[in-house]
Amino acid sequence: YENGMAETETEAVLVSVRVRPPNPVELRSDPGSVWTMPEHDPHLLKLAKGTEGTREDRDWIFDRILPPHSDNGKVYGTSARRHVRSAMEGYNAVIFAYGQTASGKTHTLSGSSMEPGIIPLAISDLFSQIRSTPDREFLLRASYLELYNETIIDLLSTVPGAELHLSEGKKGVVINGLTEVAVRSEADVKKLLRSGEDRRKVGATDWNARSSRSHCVFRITIESRSRNPAIEEAPIGARTPGGRLKAAGDKMTRISTLSIIDLAGSEKHTSSKERNAEGKHINQSLLTLKLVISKLADLASKRNVTHVPYRDSKLTRLLQNSLSGDALISVICTVSPSSLNLAESISTLAFAQGLK
Ligand code: ADP
Ligand code: MG
Repeated sequence: YENGMAETETEAVLVSVRVRPPNPVELRSDPGSVWTMPEHDPHLLKLAKGTEGTREDRDWIFDRILPPHSDNGKVYGTSARRHVRSAMEGYNAVIFAYGQTASGKTHTLSGSSMEPGIIPLAISDLFSQIRSTPDREFLLRASYLELYNETIIDLLSTVPGAELHLSEGKKGVVINGLTEVAVRSEADVKKLLRSGEDRRKVGATDWNARSSRSHCVFRITIESRSRNPAIEEAPIGARTPGGRLKAAGDKMTRISTLSIIDLAGSEKHTSSKERNAEGKHINQSLLTLKLVISKLADLASKRNVTHVPYRDSKLTRLLQNSLSGDALISVICTVSPSSLNLAESISTLAFAQGLK
């Protein structure tokens, strides 16, 4: 497999599974990992011999397997860089983190000051790409929202807790009144992200519970045009060697979005307190997301698709514009290594398997 590309890999949807290192509680209870990742095959995930409590005794195959020792830089390289670069070229790109609470979604996307995650790595990649593309002029705008219990909250609004609504028109689904801030440097974006995070925390009375039950969508809109007026436009409908539609002409303005989504925890909401509307909304939105992505994978590989059910959840509705067209999608599924979380990990892998 050159560059770790699987033969089964479709162009449109990349599915990765990241197994995090054990945490102290897991280490005390059972120091081993239930997952083994044979070195000879970068796509294979197996249950360790002797793992009890499951009948799922089979091999799992994914586009990318990221073992506990791989850091965020590695994850960026295998599962996000191509998407970020493609967004620079005028295609939409969407990157998701999916998994049970505490499996490593936020670590993967946001990371820490010690180990920046995909969002800061993408931003720094974007600005370095812009610096090395002097023949084009770029304009970047950032937005940041939280979808909590079917309510869209603008995290960059100066009005605290500002709730937004969707509407549908000629341009597709629009989030009315969403704050979009022009950003000119990495520092600009980082400042925005910090203020968004602070707003999120202020609005939440039970911060931990809330963060695991809301979807967080960070989006950068990338607009660019050639500085050279002599450049011809690519003919409409021209295709790249890979068969995708070529980006709009060099002279024309290209516009695309890079969306990075930290999804709500995928665990089953079983306690009586949680078996409420909130839990149902989460289950419904994650199920719809799986259906939508698998339909998009079908579309990309030219299988017959009758209907993409964007309308079945607010999450997929608000992402509809970003997901449709020639979007490149990456889904990073995070799992715990421990037998304590085996059932939830298996349900995460089943989700991942269902994506294409
Ligand atoms: P989630 O967002 O899925 O609820 P977090 O990203 O908050 O989970 O991770 C839970 C804890 O585990 C955090 O303290 C985080 O720093 C740690 N963690 C998660 N993934 C890793 C990893 N790959 N390497 C080191 N620590 C990790
Ligand atoms: Mg989190």
